[in-house]
Amino acid sequence: MMLAGLKTYIIGAGIGGLALARVLALRGADVTVLEQAGEIKEVGAGLQISPNGLAVLRAMGLEPQLVKSGAVLADTVRLMDYRGGEVLKLDLTQMSPQKYYFVHRAELISLLAEGARAAGAKIQLLQKVERVEEGCPAAVVLHSGERREADLIIGADGVHSVVRPALNGASAPFFTGNAAWRAVVPNVWGRQSDVQVHMGPRRHLVSYPLMGGKMLNLVAVEEQRDWLEESWTLADEPANLRAAFTDFAPVVQEMLGAVEEVRLWGLFRHEVAPRWHGQGLALLGDAAHPTLPFLAQGAVMALEDAWAMGVALDSVGSLEQGLGDYQLWRRDRAARVIKTATGNAWKYHLGFGPLRFAAHTALRLGGALAPRRMLGQFDWLYGYDITQDRPPERAR
Ligand SMILES: Cc1cc2nc3c(=O)[nH]c(=O)nc-3n(C[C@H](O)[C@H](O)[C@H](O)COP(=O)(O)OP(=O)(O)OC[C@H]3O[C@@H](n4cnc5c(N)ncnc54)[C@H](O)[C@@H]3O)c2cc1C
Repeated sequence: MMLAGLKTYIIGAGIGGLALARVLALRGADVTVLEQAGEIKEVGAGLQISPNGLAVLRAMGLEPQLVKSGAVLADTVRLMDYRGGEVLKLDLTQMSPQKYYFVHRAELISLLAEGARAAGAKIQLLQKVERVEEGCPAAVVLHSGERREADLIIGADGVHSVVRPALNGASAPFFTGNAAWRAVVPNVWGRQSDVQVHMGPRRHLVSYPLMGGKMLNLVAVEEQRDWLEESWTLADEPANLRAAFTDFAPVVQEMLGAVEEVRLWGLFRHEVAPRWHGQGLALLGDAAHPTLPFLAQGAVMALEDAWAMGVALDSVGSLEQGLGDYQLWRRDRAARVIKTATGNAWKYHLGFGPLRFAAHTALRLGGALAPRRMLGQFDWLYGYDITQDRPPERAR
């Protein structure tokens, strides 16, 4: 299909929406991004961009900007027992063929926004979309009451998407039983290039260097039975974070001791949406398939989606076919990622001592005896390069 001149609204200037804006604009579409916020910004926190996500940024022509942004090239994953013993060490440099980066979210958002504008996309702020209408043309209705029509409207509007219910009926996101504190602290430990996961009963802490190694990103997760606040995100006291991890290793206490400002997220999600597209409407990223962050793939999946949608639309004769191919191409992989991430919650948070001992011993032995095999478990995820793939064939 010729994307040239296709009038497209993308709802949401997050990682998925901005990436899609560049991909579609480079293929000739007339793209406008509608963002509810007054500025394009992100929480001051880190993001892991694995090789499969880097492949998309590279194909979009944005790898040099990523490297210049102070992204840290990762070389090692260390799984640690909460008392500090090493359970497993994975050497990421053995992982062919690509690189794994730690990135500041605000830097990634800003380079994607620049990339979208440079490709000709417009980004309009303070444009909250209240609802969308399927059709030919489809339409968005803004908070101001203004109604605007377009050939294609894409909901890249995250877990609270307004497009998802238009395609799938209303459903409330559910609390996953996990809450995450996020903070950034000065990297006084000289951590260069590794990600560490300290795993304890019903809690874990992820830490990795950011911003050329000057800062350390912390994500601390604790299982909680309920989430009672109306908001999903709260400013919290660092003391509450420290209190939740008092039985963890001294190095964890040190890292948490350096926290001055922290926010707490209730982790909510939906099931993968059954329907990702309708007449003139489509979903992308968290709006279609929100995940727990325990595989660090939510933003990376949104990047893969963006690439796939551009290729799928450009490969066939109609919007309907292109969007159908896009969903077919993406749905099973997104579902597999979500299942694996959900499984990590169980593995990281083992509470029963003997079971934890057995699981950690198996990991230790696997890492010592067959390190390449341990790493090979992730080939399906990190070794996949969507920019070298094509939409699956299907009967038309
Ligand atoms: C603790 C934590 C750690 C994580 N770590 C990683 C990681 O290391 N690697 C990784 O790949 N992923 C990670 N993720 C997941 C990742 O952050 C998300 O999957 C990703 O941000 C989703 O991008 P998105 O563009 O789909 O949606 P979002 O980032 O949610 O963007 C949606 C945008 O739409 C806008 N919007 C919403 N509604 C409207 C509306 N009605 N009108 C107009 N605009 C609207 C919002 O303001 C926002 O700008 C993590 C998540 C958490 C919670």
